[in-house]
Amino acid sequence: MLFCPLFSGSSGNSSYIEAGDTHILIDAGLTGKAITEALGQLKADPCYINAILITHEHTDHINAAGVLSRRYDIPIYANAGTWQAMLPLLGNISRKNIRVFETERDFYINDVNITPFKTPHDSKESVGYSLQYHGIKLSFMTDIGHINEYLLCAVENSDLLLIEANHDVELLKAGPYPYHLKRRILSDTGHLSNENAGKALAKLYNRGVCSALLGHLSHENNFEQLAMETVRSVLRENDIPDQCFNLAMTHRNRIGGIYEIE
Ligand SMILES: [Zn+2]
Ligand SMILES: [Zn+2]
Repeated sequence: MLFCPLFSGSSGNSSYIEAGDTHILIDAGLTGKAITEALGQLKADPCYINAILITHEHTDHINAAGVLSRRYDIPIYANAGTWQAMLPLLGNISRKNIRVFETERDFYINDVNITPFKTPHDSKESVGYSLQYHGIKLSFMTDIGHINEYLLCAVENSDLLLIEANHDVELLKAGPYPYHLKRRILSDTGHLSNENAGKALAKLYNRGVCSALLGHLSHENNFEQLAMETVRSVLRENDIPDQCFNLAMTHRNRIGGIYEIE
């Protein structure tokens, strides 16, 4: 199984997964051109994408979904709540490419098993995803206001986890955002701070997770080095030495690493 975060950040999100002959995008924020070019760098042909899985209707996750679906005839998968909110934003989608799933009910794309799970976020019916293929589990959760037992259960024993490390709380509080926006981001249904991402990973370490990518960093209220240092220090405080936990970064405007999970 191959995983590549094409873009990740508050300005646009899309990740690419290859499992045997199955090719999947999770979210399609940014522009169709940017995503197509990023796929080109991976020598991945957008014509062969089997599915675009959508987490929720915010623009940074769906901006190019309509364009890509029309241009390359790709089915879009989302739950009913997200479809209701995003359909007017996507433009014309051919009926056969509108695929509706139920949150928490797993389904297959070829032989890849997909489980969408609920995430606490200020949108209609947002989800994260776990993908399983030949005994490998890859999980994906961004846009989460807080971590709870339900989420820990959903992603435990993942071989690789992409988790949000959105902001540094002090930078956010001192930064230029208006008060209502700060409150929204800090709320239980906003975004996950670096500190809370670290705490989640420390808990998940005891539940079979030791490889994670940090994603969905805020442009204004975070930077890569700070997110990495903060998460690392929380892990160290929990007696998890650096060599026991693989941590890597995604980037807002270029592809992150290419991760082969076996
Ligand atoms: Zn969102
Ligand atoms: Zn987002």
